[in-house]
Amino acid sequence: MIFSKKEKQLVAYTIEKCPLCKKESKREFKQGDCLFVESSKCVSCNITMNIAKIFGEPIE
Ligand SMILES: [Zn+2]
Repeated sequence: MIFSKKEKQLVAYTIEKCPLCKKESKREFKQGDCLFVESSKCVSCNITMNIAKIFGEPIE
């Protein structure tokens, strides 16, 4: 049997941005993530970061 069809799998990532120091952190997307909602805390400012971007990257 020959598998000719190669499907590209995507993995979703979430970019969180701190409104104070503008630091961005990238992590894997998890259920419930939504644009501009409050997310995890910035380690240096100790305030809540916002989700700035959600995107998918193909797995090679
Ligand atoms: Zn910060």
